[in-house]
Amino acid sequence: MNSNSSVQFNEQGVPVSTTFDDIYFSVDNGVDESQYVFLAQNGLPDRWQTLSAHGCFTIAETGFGTGLNFLLTWQRFLEHAPSDTRLHFVSFEKYPLSRSQLNQAYQLLKPVAEVSSEFLKHYPAPDPGCHRLILSQGRVILDLWIGDINELLPQWLPQAQQKVDAWFLDGFAPAKNPEMWQHSLYEAMSQASYSKTTFATFTAAGSVRRALQQAGFLVSKVPGFGRKREMLCGQYSESNKLKRSDRRNVTIIGGGISAACTALALTRRGVDVKVISPDIADGASGNPQGAVYPLLHAEHTPLSRFYWQAFSTATSFYQTFCSENWFPTGVMQPAFNEQRKTRYQRIADNLYAKESVNYLQPAEAGEKAGVPLGVPALLYPKAGWLRPEAVVKSLFKAAGVELVKAKAVSLKQTDNKDWNVLLDNGESLSAERVVIATGHHVNSLLPQGIEALPIQPVRGQVSLVQTTSKLSSLKAVLCFKGYLVPADKEHHCVGATFSRNNDSLATKAEDNEENIRQLTENAQQPWAESLDVKTARVSVRATSPDHQPVAGALSDNLYILTGLGSRGFTSAPVLGEMLACQLTEELMPLTESALRRISARRFQS
Ligand code: SAM
Repeated sequence: MNSNSSVQFNEQGVPVSTTFDDIYFSVDNGVDESQYVFLAQNGLPDRWQTLSAHGCFTIAETGFGTGLNFLLTWQRFLEHAPSDTRLHFVSFEKYPLSRSQLNQAYQLLKPVAEVSSEFLKHYPAPDPGCHRLILSQGRVILDLWIGDINELLPQWLPQAQQKVDAWFLDGFAPAKNPEMWQHSLYEAMSQASYSKTTFATFTAAGSVRRALQQAGFLVSKVPGFGRKREMLCGQYSESNKLKRSDRRNVTIIGGGISAACTALALTRRGVDVKVISPDIADGASGNPQGAVYPLLHAEHTPLSRFYWQAFSTATSFYQTFCSENWFPTGVMQPAFNEQRKTRYQRIADNLYAKESVNYLQPAEAGEKAGVPLGVPALLYPKAGWLRPEAVVKSLFKAAGVELVKAKAVSLKQTDNKDWNVLLDNGESLSAERVVIATGHHVNSLLPQGIEALPIQPVRGQVSLVQTTSKLSSLKAVLCFKGYLVPADKEHHCVGATFSRNNDSLATKAEDNEENIRQLTENAQQPWAESLDVKTARVSVRATSPDHQPVAGALSDNLYILTGLGSRGFTSAPVLGEMLACQLTEELMPLTESALRRISARRFQS
């Protein structure tokens, strides 16, 4: 998807859509307008004072545009809401603005300058789907759904029942954009609202007023902002209850990135979390360096879509929680043969926004890589590498969970549907809800009567090579068949090998040779020669037959997160969010069909 080419800036510097012949915000004063129309008429910030500890206030908006409404809400929330409460802002946008268009618009929005500059660091590439961004140390979440609201709402609605506290209806004037103001929108609003849900909109159109009344809202006409005479606001009139769970405890079994992301996502939501694991980051999450990048397919597939969305959340998440161990250097895939050249160029030109993937000619590619490549390359500018072990440890620390240093050996359900977890030290623990996040060991913990999951171990060995004078200038991660990472403390990670159905942890000399041979043969460059392997590490990844993660509820109070394959650091942040939202009945960052595809129940006969 391409950025919005139909945005122009008028004499006052306000963005205008030539497609809809309408402005994005008021020429008089965009920030004051947003404050008056959307915040004040929804009773904000006052309503935030009544949130309970760890409570979350959920806003849904039609038309993200420049994000002004979001930015102002975010800023006001930080200023006024109790410090142990959270904001979840969901917005739908069909024609996302580019980063430079946003930047230009923000020149007029100085009162929100602090949050707008922070936001630009997280702004995702405008590819379709839900981009969950994690801001302000996790207190503020933005779900930016890119696509046509008419197509997105049915995918979002099943999990949004009675979960929205306030609506911002902001999709250009109804006369200029009738597609946005359809019956299906009002019907969705009705389903996602509960007795205290409010709405506000700049328009006073009779058609909107009547449709909202029909959908069950009490509608008032109040004075509009600036030159606008009137606007609409109101409240849902049905007496249904807000649907949210009473927060209970969760016990997570596992000490890797899946467990760490889930633990942090849960503790941020006020859930008490216990983690059972003999050690932290001792398995597949314990490598010294790991790459984080999305999945490229020759066409958009559900699998590649999932990974692009996961990637947006991952980069936002690591920037928020692990900035000292996360290096967004860019990841490059050199096109080391003719077939790849054609394929990569076609993909970059036709399938993705420039902010997502660029096809670079050899000279520019080499400059970006910091070493000559001699061939063109794909660049993922927002991707990079991290220190897996340090990241996992810091996430557990940030989560502040209780760690039970033991191995869980079996699970038995009690009469009241709690779980009894037996440990290898002979002790046992009682748990209300359990998440198994033990990679390829998952089946050994499944209780009797539950079918084994088709999870396969894949052994991978990485080699650590000493940097050299030619290689030390490497700036970006290079992916050939495996990957080569810029130096960290004089060493580069090269790898990994791929050996199915193998869970042996012993390192092998021939695997180091294989890693080096792959690199030398594919790169065909002097910097890839005479590399000296200092040490190696083996990890075993868990993969599923359809390459999708295995995530979510499996049976009563039992949840699974495994099957992350070799892209665990890309997918775990969004999957941890998804699982935490499932456990706390909050809005999830994935479509209904994506949730079905990764469901832990999909293999059950
Ligand atoms: N809330 C925005 C802000 O704070 O800047 C202003 C929103 S602007 C007035 C309306 C937005 O609705 C535009 O960004 C437009 O691209 C988007 N839009 C229009 N039709 C849409 C549709 N069918 N689905 C999703 N978004 C749509």
